[in-house]
Amino acid sequence: MGKLTNAMWRMLGAQASRNQSQSIALIEQSHEHDSWAQELADTEFADSAANLDIESSEGRAKFLAMIREGGGRVLDMTPFDVQLQGALRMLDGDVVEMATGEGKTLAGSIAAIGYALEGRRVHVVSVNDYLADRDAKWMGPLYGLFGITVGTLSEHSTREERQKAYASDVTYASVNEIGFDVLRDQLALHDDDLVSPEPDVVIVDEADSVLVDEALVPLILAGSTEAETPNSAIHEVVSHLKSRHYEVDTDGRSVFLTEEGARFVEDTLGGIDIYGDEHVGSTLIHVNVALYAYYLLERDVDYIVRDGGVHLINAARGRVARLQRWPDGVQAAVEYKENLKPTASGEVIDTITVQALVGRYPRVAGMTGTAIAAGEQFRQFYGLGVSQIPSNKPNVREDEPDRVFDSKANKMEAVVDFVKEVHDTGQPVLIGTHDVAQSEELAYFLDRAEVRSVVLNAKNDREEAAIIAEAGRKGVVTVSTQMAGRGTDIRLGGSDGDGDARAEVVDLGGLCVVGTGRYDTARLDSQLRGRAGRQGDPGRSVFFSSLEDPLVTKNHTHVRDSRPVSSDGAMGARGVEVVEQAQRIAEGAMLQTHGNTWDFNKQVNEQRNSIVRRRMTILKSDRALQDLKEHEPERYEELSETVSDEVLEDAARQIVLYHLDRSWADHLAYAADVQASIHLRALGQQSPLEEFHKLIFAEFTKLFDESMEAARETFRTATITEDGLDTDDADMHRSTMTWTYLVHENHFASAGAQAIQGIVGIFR
Ligand code: ADP
Repeated sequence: MGKLTNAMWRMLGAQASRNQSQSIALIEQSHEHDSWAQELADTEFADSAANLDIESSEGRAKFLAMIREGGGRVLDMTPFDVQLQGALRMLDGDVVEMATGEGKTLAGSIAAIGYALEGRRVHVVSVNDYLADRDAKWMGPLYGLFGITVGTLSEHSTREERQKAYASDVTYASVNEIGFDVLRDQLALHDDDLVSPEPDVVIVDEADSVLVDEALVPLILAGSTEAETPNSAIHEVVSHLKSRHYEVDTDGRSVFLTEEGARFVEDTLGGIDIYGDEHVGSTLIHVNVALYAYYLLERDVDYIVRDGGVHLINAARGRVARLQRWPDGVQAAVEYKENLKPTASGEVIDTITVQALVGRYPRVAGMTGTAIAAGEQFRQFYGLGVSQIPSNKPNVREDEPDRVFDSKANKMEAVVDFVKEVHDTGQPVLIGTHDVAQSEELAYFLDRAEVRSVVLNAKNDREEAAIIAEAGRKGVVTVSTQMAGRGTDIRLGGSDGDGDARAEVVDLGGLCVVGTGRYDTARLDSQLRGRAGRQGDPGRSVFFSSLEDPLVTKNHTHVRDSRPVSSDGAMGARGVEVVEQAQRIAEGAMLQTHGNTWDFNKQVNEQRNSIVRRRMTILKSDRALQDLKEHEPERYEELSETVSDEVLEDAARQIVLYHLDRSWADHLAYAADVQASIHLRALGQQSPLEEFHKLIFAEFTKLFDESMEAARETFRTATITEDGLDTDDADMHRSTMTWTYLVHENHFASAGAQAIQGIVGIFR
């Protein structure tokens, strides 16, 4: 799929406006049914709704009238027309753009009710458990009125609770939990152990965060193997390196030894040749992993240490991501670096990316404050259209031109001066930073300027929702990393602000949003700006950048003239140009990386699908025994003299599943190895991707036969009695402990590849 030409975009634009006029006409028509809906008793709603011919235009119009009436009656919210428009587009499978504070929660539930009335099963996906639970409870009465059951699940739900939540017509859950359930189903040995239902409709909240920014995050199910302890000699030497011993790539993504560093390491490790055949695959990889942990991963930027453990910071959302860890070598290395006890390591049993997870649903819809800017990704990777829904009240926020400085220091000084000035008037200020360290640095500078601020970051994520809700109070200064996907709106005057508190802040000009640097995409800038000016409120936003910002330095932007135009270091319009160019380069690179990584993952995902299909057949039928009987008729005859077919069926199922799962885990490990070393292999002529596909394909074609071969062997030799299969005797050891996690920031996913890139760097 290539990029769309201008003409094609124009056609899509015409289609989009036709869609909107249709929605508006339908909403218009729905008013004819208002008095009918108003006369329905609460107890009549469910039956009337069930009897609607929801796919006809009259049925839809009546549905909208009922929703309007019902929302006012049980939620005290009569949906605005724009919310109905959003819901209608989601019922058509679009991602809708609705600004912050426009009421996406209600719009999403209207769409979910519509789908449920069509007889479909709906998952409403949030970015975290807290929001899933909040939204399900909040919208609960509306579902109840329509006779639609709603369930929710969280990290802490038991299997029974999960099964119950999924049995509801509409299920609210975080994308992680849904994914982990899909993965854990791969451990099921019986049909009734399965938790995840057949996927049908998914409505994704914060759709760009989930479907674009985090799309390639792999969710992982791992099982215990022996704990891996990092090689302490290697860690000792790496921790003692001087800056001349290693070099960090300009984009800060890989690190490698300099020649001098390599010699130092070789001498310290007893005069070895780390580029020699026997060390390239082991010692050198460990050295590179340790380098990565020591010199690229930064405490308080990439992770924090709390409760005796390393907690990764979710870069996209700036908060601690629970249950996340890096690939084992890196995790152990960071734990070692921080003098922590190493946690058990494991083998990957199964893995799926968010993109593949969402790809399982035949119908996908979504909502976010910034859909249009991600339109190309939605189309290219999911085949989704986007619709821009107008705001209920016109947006009067003032977005001021960027202020760009020559150096980071001058930028920070300007930010502090600006915030102090605004704060002195009493206007609330929300400052967006890029990471935890930057937040703390800024809070420190503000403190010195006698501006007290509340810092919202990964260290106090538990209170984040409460803090954000208060960011609109008079005189409050809030410093926060990444606001995208935080899902809480900011009311002027505070969450419990009465008319007076609100009026006072309105008079002061509403919320003032300050960005301390453009993000890698303008879409994330808009997410931050969008916190101000909700529902027609006044508000302003301004971004401060510098030529030393990573956005500029990482994207190798050509700066023709870096002399400031004034003594405070301001760069004027020229600076803005540089920053915007850097952002365009970053956006292009991201799209490219997404495409490449997706190409790498696609084949493994298709292979996963065939494993899952095979597994399902075995779980739900007597196929395992039939296969073994066909291949090993004599053994079957022998066993069936003493063992009933029922017990044999169960034993056969266990044997076949065990070997299938074993082969799949081995295959995943192989794929990871190949991906990690493909850059080396591809130093020759082949494209890395083609080479990867060739190797993975070849290996997979053998998988089913080989796992069946192993199953036959076990079937021939295992002890099977009327009491069942003796798994110990058959040497069939399933992991005693399993856990789930996700690997953030795609380049962590391939620390191996990073290590290898380090080596390539030296070879060049
Ligand atoms: P978003 O997710 O789009 O930022 P929310 O769903 O959190 O917005 O809703 C923002 C606020 O608007 C909520 O406090 C909600 O109570 C209010 N709201 C939404 N829809 C309506 C409505 N139709 N009438 C009155 N208030 C509404």
